[in-house]
Amino acid sequence: MTATRIDGKAFAEKVCDEVSEGVKSLQASHGVTPGLAVVLVGGDSASQVYVRNKVRQTEACGMKSFHHILDATTSRGALMSIIESLNADPEVHGILVQLPLPDHLDSRDVIEAIDPAKDVDGFHTSNVGELWTSGESFIPCTPLGCLKLLKSVEPNIAGKNAVVIGRSNIVGRPMAALLLNESATVAIAHSKTQNLQSVCRQADILVAAVGRPQMVKADWIKPGAIVLDVGINRIETDDGKGKLVGDVDFDDASKVAGAITPVPGGPGPMTIACLLANTLEAAKRSVS
Ligand code: NAD
Repeated sequence: MTATRIDGKAFAEKVCDEVSEGVKSLQASHGVTPGLAVVLVGGDSASQVYVRNKVRQTEACGMKSFHHILDATTSRGALMSIIESLNADPEVHGILVQLPLPDHLDSRDVIEAIDPAKDVDGFHTSNVGELWTSGESFIPCTPLGCLKLLKSVEPNIAGKNAVVIGRSNIVGRPMAALLLNESATVAIAHSKTQNLQSVCRQADILVAAVGRPQMVKADWIKPGAIVLDVGINRIETDDGKGKLVGDVDFDDASKVAGAITPVPGGPGPMTIACLLANTLEAAKRSVS
């Protein structure tokens, strides 16, 4: 079997086009332009690249972009006052604080300060609670992107066995909640799971969100399963340039899976697209 390659880049472009149309129609109907504020405190070069990409794509979709690039030594008080002012700003519909934060800042404390109606990352406990009780929430962007990619190849998720490897608040847990809300039978595997390979082999839908390069091999995968690879890992190459790989050994797994996302070009591009979709949704809710 050679798996269908699920093209996250092409799908993300489609989502961005839909968001651009949505922005135009909100401007026409209510005179409102959605605005996204991104806050970066310190941050390594990867975080700075993420923020630059978010700003660029926000503007490309016709939204307003606000960014606060703060020094790594920024105090809790100074950060909180920026969040308060963004909460109160009617031009800002979505607020994203880039994680991780420097050690002296508690990310939970900071996320809780964001108005849940502007929490387009879906990390505020109010949105997390809504997600787990099937309420109306902002859904974290990476799992939301994965769900959209999954539905593009398998609209009938109900009753399927799903295994999510990884239990982070950003990916693993919300991914499991989304699959449960779609009536899949869901298992969450993690670093303490025993017989991980045989757990994974039960999965009709396998989501890998671990951060271990090419950990999932062909013999971990049920023939025909759909595999969503969230991992982004840089590995060394002979030419010294290095390359990005996922948590799944793509070439090996493609021999067994029914459909699989590549890295790069899988859930990664969908994450920003879903952030923009959430921001548009926040702006729509603000006028309804
Ligand atoms: P994390 O470190 O917070 O969580 C990793 C999870 O993997 C943990 O729950 C841990 O229990 C589990 N784990 C670790 N070793 C394991 C093992 N040997 N067997 C089974 N489980 C194991 O990471 P995260 O933030 O959830 O990110 C996971 C991966 O996804 C990373 O590679 C990250 O770069 C990537 N990521 C990608 C996107 C995207 O936009 N595509 C977004 C977020 C994260």
